[in-house]
Order: sequence, then structure tokens, then C-alpha cells
Amino acid sequence: MASDRVFVIGLDGGSWKVIDPLIERGKLPNLSRLKEEGAWSGLESTLPPVTCPAWFTFSTGLRPSRLGIYDFRGISKGSDRIRLHTYKEIEQPEFWDIIMQSGHSCGIINNPLLYPRKRHTGYVVPGFITPQEHFRTYPEGLIRELDGVAGGYEVDQQAMNIVDDETLLEDCLRVLRKRIEAMTYLLREYPTDLFLGVFTATDRICHRFMNRAFLGDGDEERAGWDALERVFGLVDEGVGKILEAAGDEDYILVMSDHGFEARPWNVHVNQWLADEGLLNIKVVGTLEKMGLTQRNIGRQLKKMGLMKAVYRLSPRRLREIVPAGESTLGEYFIHDLLERGRVDWARTRAVSLGYSYYLNTEDRPQGILSAREAGEVRQEIEAGLRGLVDPEGGSGGIEALDTASAYETEAPLDPPDQMLRESGGWQIRSTLTAGGEIFTPNERAGHAMRGIFVLRHPWVEAGEVGEPLSIEDLAPLILHLFGLPVPEGMDGRVRQDIFKPDTPLRREVSISRTPDAMGAEKERIRRRIAALKQGDAV
Ligand SMILES: [Zn+2]
Repeated sequence: MASDRVFVIGLDGGSWKVIDPLIERGKLPNLSRLKEEGAWSGLESTLPPVTCPAWFTFSTGLRPSRLGIYDFRGISKGSDRIRLHTYKEIEQPEFWDIIMQSGHSCGIINNPLLYPRKRHTGYVVPGFITPQEHFRTYPEGLIRELDGVAGGYEVDQQAMNIVDDETLLEDCLRVLRKRIEAMTYLLREYPTDLFLGVFTATDRICHRFMNRAFLGDGDEERAGWDALERVFGLVDEGVGKILEAAGDEDYILVMSDHGFEARPWNVHVNQWLADEGLLNIKVVGTLEKMGLTQRNIGRQLKKMGLMKAVYRLSPRRLREIVPAGESTLGEYFIHDLLERGRVDWARTRAVSLGYSYYLNTEDRPQGILSAREAGEVRQEIEAGLRGLVDPEGGSGGIEALDTASAYETEAPLDPPDQMLRESGGWQIRSTLTAGGEIFTPNERAGHAMRGIFVLRHPWVEAGEVGEPLSIEDLAPLILHLFGLPVPEGMDGRVRQDIFKPDTPLRREVSISRTPDAMGAEKERIRRRIAALKQGDAV
């Protein structure tokens, strides 16, 4: 008899490139055992392989083109306002909504992006992007219990991008220890049918140390691997705690939102657009008084101490986003400029938000491009980015993709003009640079498309799965493990090939076909949740 409890373990940015060598050295006994006993493969992330939208695709089974969310930020059609996407926009049911609606209990700890919070019926301890000062759990009182067991629960390490390596490593380990304490407590005190626990330190430590481990030699290489080993080793202990709470008959699913790889070069897309005369930044007011021009923005900021200047200009936003951010300060600075209306739209034809760009077409308030001109600019950008060559003569190139073909859909929801995809060890950045360089040496490793997947259960065929799963396959899969129908509209599909023949899981997947199944489901959940008093629901 197999039970139907499901334990989902998220390793943010988890990659076999890091995990496999550590397994070979005998450093990750629990992950090693799971990989040996379970079905495993890579896990294709979203395009782009970024926290937002990847975790939303994980929870909804819908690709970015169905959510209208292609990055942390977007510019809607007909608008020139750059806005930060939030959890509020997710109207589609997430797999845990459907599971709870079916009468099962759910506990979620540290899933990213669950902010601003929604009402939940299980327990929820939100993760990254929730500012520490706005931190709330469901039920409300739960945070006090976690503070008690963990000695002050922490969402994320602070000041990710400004602290030195040693401090970052110590911060990662401290926050991670608290996370494990909190998870262990929740698993013991509030057992649920679905447990979803995410470790974020894996992402943070890879950003900082993976380039060194993979591109450095001698002491550098050793220091890189030491840091990775300490954090992944502790994560593995956390995985061990989860395995202790689960039985051998429970489902254990390990996943990541994206993979990781070493990236020696940054390629600054907005710098390139500015150099081509396609983007113009207005340098006025405070910036002007500080002696800044578009051309010298980066250089001046560096001279004055980037942090000081940025703090002076945008303390609130910076405190909210940067300390826990996955990106570099410069990127937040340029986004801040863009968001504060510093783009000289009347003289701008294209703006990049990183993994995409938007054309200033006539439908926007200060749009200047007719449909024909837009087509020409698109071609110019496509060819220009494809032809870039890095200072070492590498021509990995940036590929510009039409959203319809990138997401295999005729009608992507509110898409950018094109998506951008890097290769060849390049890291796309939306920054302007100090000396106007298009390429700068990159100290941080970057997100890769291929993450990790493991599912262990007596009914699952152990070994490598033929074709890697995609992140949108996980929501349908988890519903299927609970014996629940999969909403018809989900992009992901249940991968039957991972189950042993003649097991109940190999049965046909049931699909909820009501055209408005998702809407109706959501409405039911909403009504039910509204009826519950906040906080009394575990
Ligand atoms: Zn991530």
C-alpha cells in the first residue's frame, strides 16, 4: 500500500552540474539516495529561466505566455510604465488550491513570490521577495512559533549583492539553519498531506561561487567548491529531515526553478541599445546636479560609490528589493531610472528589461514607431544582438525570439516585442556600464535552462527519464499523484513514462473538462476561503 502524502522539495537554482560532483565525493547522502531510488532527469525551466515567472509556472502549470508574466517586470501594451509583477496577478488556480479544495491539507514554506499574500487554508510561510518588515504567515500566529524555534526566522540573507564572499556564505548558512529548524518543526507539529519546502541558499551561493568553482583554478577553484559544498551539504541535511518525516511509501519530489552555469561575460543590452541610438535616458534633476550624463552614468556612480548614490536616490525601493535580490545593483538602478520615467520616450525606440525588449510603438503614450518602422527596428536589433562578439572573440550571441514561436502559442498574453536568450557563457544584463562597454567580466554565475527533477515512490520507475520534464509538467503531476483531475487548460502534461507499468498511477490521467472549470474552481475556493476566519485554518 502506498500512501498519498506528497513532499515537494524545491532547490532554487538546483543543477546536476553542482550536485553530481558533490554526490560523487560522498557529500550529499540524502540527495544521492533519492536520485538512486527515484526517477530523475533535468527539468526545463521557463523562458527566461528566472525566479519570476518560473515559480508561477510551477504552481499553475501555465507558461509565461498564458500568465502574461515574462520577467520580474513588464511593460503592458499601450503603456510606457514599467511595473513589477506581483502575486496578486495570479488569478489562475495554483495546484495547492485544487488540492486543498479536494479536502487535503497543504503546508508551504519558503516558496518564492507569494507576496503580497493571499488567503490560504493551509499554512504558508512565504519566501523571497517578501520584505522582512512585511512578513506575515498563515496563520498569523505561526511566525511567532517559528521565531521561537529558529531564534528569529529570516526570509532571506540580507544585502545579497553588497556583502563580501565570507559574509554571504555565513549569512546563507545561518538563514538555512533557521529554515531547517522551521521546516522540521512544521513537519512535526503540523503534518499535512502536501508539504512544499523550498531552499533558496542554493541559488544565492551558486550566483556567488559557481564561476570560481568552474572557471577558476587552484585556490580559487577550491574556495568555490568549498562554499558550494558547505551550503549544499547543509541543504542535504535539511532534505534528510524531510525524509525522516516522510515514510518510504510517500512521494518525494525534488525540483528546481532553473539550473545554473558559469558565465564569464555580462552583455549589457541597454548599453548596446543606447550606443545604437535606440534608447535615450533623460538625465535631469538630482542626477544632473550630480554631474551625470547618460554616457557617464555608470562611471560616475562607481566613482561616488554606487551604493551611496543609489541609496540616496531610491532608499525605499532599494530596501524592498535589492537586499534580497537575485540580480546586480546596477540592474536595479537602471530599472529604477526606467520606472521613474527617466526614459526619454520621445527619442527612444526600444528598451530592454533584460530577457526581453519593448518597442516604442505608436500605441504607447509617446510612441514613435509605425508598424513598418517597428518591423525594421526589430530586424536591426535581431541582427545586431546576433552579431555581438565578446572581448575574447567569442560569438555566443543573443538570440531574439518572437514570443509566439518561443512559447508555441498564437496568442501570448501581453508579451514583450521579443524575448532574448543568451548562450556561450554570456549573461544578459539590462545595465548601462561604467565605461560604455557592451561586455564586462562577470563575477556571478547565471541561471541556466536545465534544472533538476527527482520523484521517488514505490510506483515510480527508478533511473533516468528518457526526455527531461518541463517545469509546467509539475502541477499536473502533483495533482495526478493525489488522484485529482488536471484542469484542461494547463500547458504541462502528466508524464506517464515515469511510473511502473500496472501501477494505479499509470492509469489514464483524468482531465477536468468543464470549459470554465478553472474559473469555477477558483470561485469555489474564494468563497470557501472568504468564509474562513483568517488564521484559524491549519
Ligand atoms: Zn530562482
